[in-house]
Amino acid sequence: MDLQGKSAIITGAASGIGKDIALVYAAAGCNVAIADLNKSAADTAASEISALGAGRAIGVAMDVSDEDAVEAGVSAAIDAFGGVDILVSNAGIQIVHPVEQFPYAEWKKMIAIHLDGAFLTTRACLKHMYTAGRGGCIIYMGSVHSKEASKLKAPYVAAKHGLIGLAKVVAKEAAAHRVRANVICPGFVRTPLVDKQIPEQARTLGISESDVIRNVMLKETVDGEFTTVDDVAQVALFLAAFPSNALTGQSVIVSHGWCME
Ligand code: NAD
Repeated sequence: MDLQGKSAIITGAASGIGKDIALVYAAAGCNVAIADLNKSAADTAASEISALGAGRAIGVAMDVSDEDAVEAGVSAAIDAFGGVDILVSNAGIQIVHPVEQFPYAEWKKMIAIHLDGAFLTTRACLKHMYTAGRGGCIIYMGSVHSKEASKLKAPYVAAKHGLIGLAKVVAKEAAAHRVRANVICPGFVRTPLVDKQIPEQARTLGISESDVIRNVMLKETVDGEFTTVDDVAQVALFLAAFPSNALTGQSVIVSHGWCME
């Protein structure tokens, strides 16, 4: 699958899933803007990717929940590469509490990063995609939690369900401009985001960390295995390289069978 001559903006790509998508896209010939709150980590990731000698990579400072920062970051990426063909809205965090104890400020922070961030980056990129008239692809990083619920994750589950609604609207509005919108829904992937949750959930649920992994995170999978960053990146490559509007408004679950529909 070839992304030669294309340019992508990937949010939250200084770490975890986003970083691997950036690597896989660059290896397919794509220029990648690594847009992240952590600019120094974004620059480091960009240097590692550029050193591979395929697509170019740059680090871009961006808080996806800040309207001005998103507009400025998207403009910087477009100035560097001459356009944007692919947006991967991936930046995310996790905060867990039972609903009745969830601090409102933390609820709002979760919704701002996951949903406002997806909207703001979509709006900024769509304008350029429409003007350039060369089509495009938008990918939202959902989760099995776009389809299912887990205790303690109210804003995460609400936001990840919301991304499916956003993708469906964008798929309808943008089709005339040959811009597609889809959601990837991974199961648990061992990244810093998940590594942080394991001891937190063990404390909250009063069980061991290995029980969190075995009996909470991977309990419903077909084989007791974590999904990998590369599993997710390969699906992101497939969606980005797909040639027509036949594949739009969809959500693709990559979860070792945790969720089947
Ligand atoms: P990660 O913690 O490894 O990486 C997240 C990145 O997002 C970090 O580089 C961080 O600096 C950046 N970020 C955080 N807030 C930001 C903001 N406001 N603006 C810009 N960047 C910001 O996490 P990950 O596991 O790779 O998660 C990436 C995405 O995948 C998230 O949306 C997450 O919900 C989703 N996801 C993860 C898993 C999993 O098991 N790891 C499963 C399903 C979905």
